[in-house]
Amino acid sequence: MRAPTTMRIPGLRGDLIAPGHPDYDDARAVWNGTIDRRPGLIARCTGTADVAAAVRFARACDLEIAVRGGGHNVAGTAVCDDGIVIDLSPMRAVSVDPVERIAHVRGGALWGDVDHETQAYGLATTGGIVSHTGVGGVSLGGGIGWLMRKHGLTVDNLVEAEVVTAEGDVIRASAQDHPDLFWALRGGGGNFGVVCSFRFALHPVGPSVMAGPVFWAAENTADVLRFYREFVADAPDELGNVVRLGTIPPLPDVRENLHFRPAIAVVSCHAGPVEDGEVAVRALREFGSPLVDLVGPTLYVDHQSGIDDTVPHGWRYYWKGTDLTGLSDEVIDIVAEHAYRATSPRSYAAMFHLGGAIARVPRDATAHLGREVGHRMSIDAAWLPEQDDSVGAAEKAWAREFLDALAPHRAGVYVNFLDSDDDTDRVREAYGDDTYQRLAEVKAKYDPENVFHNNKNIRPGKQGV
Ligand SMILES: Cc1cc2nc3c(=O)[nH]c(=O)nc-3n(C[C@H](O)[C@H](O)[C@H](O)COP(=O)(O)OP(=O)(O)OC[C@H]3O[C@@H](n4cnc5c(N)ncnc54)[C@H](O)[C@@H]3O)c2cc1C
Repeated sequence: MRAPTTMRIPGLRGDLIAPGHPDYDDARAVWNGTIDRRPGLIARCTGTADVAAAVRFARACDLEIAVRGGGHNVAGTAVCDDGIVIDLSPMRAVSVDPVERIAHVRGGALWGDVDHETQAYGLATTGGIVSHTGVGGVSLGGGIGWLMRKHGLTVDNLVEAEVVTAEGDVIRASAQDHPDLFWALRGGGGNFGVVCSFRFALHPVGPSVMAGPVFWAAENTADVLRFYREFVADAPDELGNVVRLGTIPPLPDVRENLHFRPAIAVVSCHAGPVEDGEVAVRALREFGSPLVDLVGPTLYVDHQSGIDDTVPHGWRYYWKGTDLTGLSDEVIDIVAEHAYRATSPRSYAAMFHLGGAIARVPRDATAHLGREVGHRMSIDAAWLPEQDDSVGAAEKAWAREFLDALAPHRAGVYVNFLDSDDDTDRVREAYGDDTYQRLAEVKAKYDPENVFHNNKNIRPGKQGV
């Protein structure tokens, strides 16, 4: 239903933004510049009570609801047409209990907020590798990052969530309270309510870590990946690696004549003592003839924001994701063949190395699937707002063809890497039948009318399966 042009929601202390408000266009914009939705109202919530007030108001007026955490999901589900956006962006506070090693994080915080506060104590938890990504969406979908092989996924570090339900009630979910909801929140996305705060377990990390990228020329891709396959097989849990295939981004430390040159990079971060990290990455740095080697002792908090500028807000994006059981020779050949066919120098593919602590958590302990896979891939088309639609069409075709070529080797997909329309059918793929069914039952209990459906939707009850 279209939102009424009311300028007041009972009980809301934050700003209410409607069409015509000077901040309206900024407030409805999300990270992906292809998303252009026009909500009837945007409720900028300042705390849990505001969120509860906004949910109750939306239900009373039968409004479509979208929930915005960091606004980074490529599908743009943080914003809807008409209806109301429950915008958590004013709720970014983070506080740390260094004795219990717990971070208390508000539902609209970004990973940069978490790293900033936790690193003041030399602590960290697994989070996204771009600092302007939201804690909300990442944590509810799974949460992969540099620390995951040592300390588990973000969901493995979640100890409690404060949730506003579809009825506008406030409840807490943990291993003790509402354990069914707690299970579902750890992978099931924003389907079960609005999470106003998270409590995460923290671990000693840094402040300096051995980290950074090594780049090789694109024509060496197959050799680098064959070497990488053996390298990660023996890697300690402390070592997180992401392969990036595309062009060399114009980073400040890269010579200008190398900017946008097609290249494969392995980006590493060792979550232990710098001396151990130096040993762990030595073979990688000595392999072949790197074009650029930027690995060195780095502040963890700087490494966490090192690639922020390569994926800025407002560019046009389109993603395709898949998990891969392993890096067979065949997979390597497909990757080498397709990775550089994109025409935009801003498009790239990223491949996260999993295993370690992730694989040691039982499959049914959380709603996140894919713990047994070796590598998690995201094929990310990116182009500029001023480029015409034909560029976007070509980039999208590249991403789709790349994914299609990998079809025989696919092993599920990370729910947070799903795009919009043409990925709707893949929500089931992200969970598998048994986990999807269990999620649908929890959904039927906490949101039987599917109020929260602007997300990677789980339909409530058995009829959804
Ligand atoms: C540049 C970039 C880098 C990324 N890197 C990583 C990475 O390193 N690791 C990783 O795991 N993922 C990564 N992702 C994917 C990321 O997990 C998803 O995009 C995620 O949805 C972002 O969360 P958000 O809160 O910013 O998104 P939003 O778009 O705000 O939210 C997406 C959906 O999540 C739900 N949601 C968000 N917050 C809440 C909340 N507090 N309560 C209830 N529901 C909520 C809503 O349903 C919303 O529609 C990256 C994405 C981008 C764009």
